[in-house]
Amino acid sequence: MINASVSVIALHEKGRVAKETYEAVDFARELSKDRPGIVVLSGEEEAERVSRELAEKTGLDVVCLSGSMLGEYSAEAYRKTLLSFFRNKGDVCICIPHTSEGSDFAPQLSVGLKACCITSVEGIGEGVFFRSMFGGKFRAEIRPERNSLVLTVIPGASRQQVGVPDLPGAVKVIPLADMAVSTRTQGFREAEHADMALAKAEVIVSAGRGIGRPENLSLIEKLSSLFPKSAIGATRGVCDLGWLGYTHQIGSTGNTVAPKLYLACGISGAIQHVAGMKDSQLIVAINTDVHAAIFRTAHYCIVEDLSTFIPLLIDIHLKRGG
Ligand SMILES: Cc1cc2nc3c(=O)[nH]c(=O)nc-3n(C[C@H](O)[C@H](O)[C@H](O)COP(=O)(O)OP(=O)(O)OC[C@H]3O[C@@H](n4cnc5c(N)ncnc54)[C@H](O)[C@@H]3O)c2cc1C
Repeated sequence: MINASVSVIALHEKGRVAKETYEAVDFARELSKDRPGIVVLSGEEEAERVSRELAEKTGLDVVCLSGSMLGEYSAEAYRKTLLSFFRNKGDVCICIPHTSEGSDFAPQLSVGLKACCITSVEGIGEGVFFRSMFGGKFRAEIRPERNSLVLTVIPGASRQQVGVPDLPGAVKVIPLADMAVSTRTQGFREAEHADMALAKAEVIVSAGRGIGRPENLSLIEKLSSLFPKSAIGATRGVCDLGWLGYTHQIGSTGNTVAPKLYLACGISGAIQHVAGMKDSQLIVAINTDVHAAIFRTAHYCIVEDLSTFIPLLIDIHLKRGG
């Protein structure tokens, strides 16, 4: 348990609260016996709506810091606004969703507050925070040496899911004067739409970097073609390499899927990937490394080289008449 007062920074986009925010709220509830507060930064237009949604869905009190410079995300504007809000509040524990935005401004905020910064937090123990290392193979236990903390919370970290509260929390919108910032966001490019095939598929065969090279995607395609309602998924590693488009990405920053069968091929099992597929009915993982983290989630663990195992599997299947 934390002695400092716990707050969650709510992240949102186009007036919609990010689902990672609610996960960070659930995580924050585990940190202290006192209810956490929620702080939201927003442009004037969406301030009221976003704050009300948060207060209604969590039952927690929401403070909204609102100003024209907060209409679009900017690390500089977020840092400056949060620094002046938290600076004289004593010991604080600030929980931020570990999204690209959260992991962008959290370290800067911690420096300004002279707080201890721990990123990618997955859990809490007796005075320690846990985070994964090396694709989930190791778990680091980090003991903060300061009372004030800035934590980024990995999606999927919370063990509890709090239902809809009886009463909404209180909302306080604080209008802020415009501030001088040296960077301005020019706008955002829309991501491609999620692959509908993934949403409808009963079987998903997913490729990780363990496939070794893009030519080996043909193995994944052949394996997938054995199942009538199947689709191909991928880890972010594979998408970042350009071997498959981002529409195939599964995980906290990609698609969330729950097919009847999920075949993870050459995937280490990083928490961000697992967050997007852990609810699959049957998970089979193929990995050369017996210690791969994916084996903690899989129902069937195959310790094999996929480049020999998958052709054998296809061969046996075809010999038996498909
Ligand atoms: C903010 C943030 C968001 C993220 N969001 C996502 C997300 O949405 N989705 C996602 O997937 N990742 C996401 N990531 C990245 C994630 O942390 C991992 O880096 C990524 O999932 C690793 O991909 P991988 O398993 O393909 O590669 P690696 O971690 O490199 O794993 C490759 C695996 O293949 C195995 N292997 C190697 N050769 C073979 C072989 N011949 N046969 C069988 N197995 C073999 C290895 O043992 C290893 O376990 C995110 C990261 C951050 C920081």
